Amino acid sequence: EIILAIETSCDETAAAVIQGGSSILSNVVASQIESHQRFGGVVPELASRHHTENITWVVEEALTDAGVIFADLDAVAVTAGPGLVGALLVGVNAAKAIAFAHGLPLLPVHHIAGHIQAARLERPWHYPALALVVSGGHTELVLLKDEGEYEVIGQTRDDAAGEAYDKVARSLNLSYPGGPQIDKLAREGETIIPFPIAWLEEGSYDFSFSGLKSAVINKLHNAKQKGEVFRKEDVAASFQRSVIEVLTEKTKRAAAQYGVKQVVVVGGVAANKGLRQSMKDIFSNTEVELTIPPLALCTDNAAMIGAAAHIQWKKNIQADWNLNGKADLALF
Ligand code: ATP
Ligand code: MG
Ligand code: FE
Repeated sequence: EIILAIETSCDETAAAVIQGGSSILSNVVASQIESHQRFGGVVPELASRHHTENITWVVEEALTDAGVIFADLDAVAVTAGPGLVGALLVGVNAAKAIAFAHGLPLLPVHHIAGHIQAARLERPWHYPALALVVSGGHTELVLLKDEGEYEVIGQTRDDAAGEAYDKVARSLNLSYPGGPQIDKLAREGETIIPFPIAWLEEGSYDFSFSGLKSAVINKLHNAKQKGEVFRKEDVAASFQRSVIEVLTEKTKRAAAQYGVKQVVVVGGVAANKGLRQSMKDIFSNTEVELTIPPLALCTDNAAMIGAAAHIQWKKNIQADWNLNGKADLALF
């Protein structure tokens, strides 16, 4: 089957055409990063406006790149949440209009299910599997006992990993989004500054990054007052070490406890070179298969939404014309 997928949950206007749940016929992403950069983060009103301006040509380009027309489609899929409600609505209404006009089923997709299913664009699943979702708004360990069955076994109690990256980057006067820049600096730095790691209660798979974030910000603030100088590279490397250590260790423990056959790492922070390497170091000589999608499928895109929609398609889960964007939507 051929699915047109649309994603507008945050600051990327994206459309893709996916065949059979794993073959990418096209994948178009219009990033708005430049517009938001001067405000140091995503401005919701601005995001909605850009989505409105971009959605039509992005969808047209996705069809053209794939070499298909509306009549070739079997369904239209769209991210229904979570995300910025005004941003989600642009995609939801575009998808509704296309589905209605061409008599196609409308498939609702959860943004995080999309991030997770980016893995199937790389490799087939082997269950039980464990997904570490690390993005701008989420940090979760999700157990998949079977196709499309998501059980959240741990999540952040405060900031998401990506959020911590962006805030620490800001305190280092780096531009938004800071994740990629910290990643780069970290490779040139040394892990000489002792920052805390939040392990939480014994056996918990939850995360917490706000303490680490504050520790970095306080350290920089105190250093400034005392005239102490830290290299940005060393701050980045030391911060990143604390993040990666807790992510990899909890993933390793959960993988062992649940006896999973596959571990996937997804979401924007999965683009992080240090995290990718540490995960490889841990799982390379084990029975566990490690899948980390290429960078372009880790950050927001619509190909992952099409991959997740394939499961909705198979299970015949359709939305009706009342479908709405929802800022806080439980994982499905
Ligand atoms: P969510 O998916 O939770 O709704 P989102 O869609 O805004 O949030 P993504 O687009 O998946 O999040 O990821 C963006 C985040 O990934 C940002 O916080 C960004 O800093 C971070 N990020 C991107 N590349 C890297 C990298 N190389 N290292 C660390 N963080 C990164
Ligand atoms: Mg984004
Ligand atoms: Fe995302």
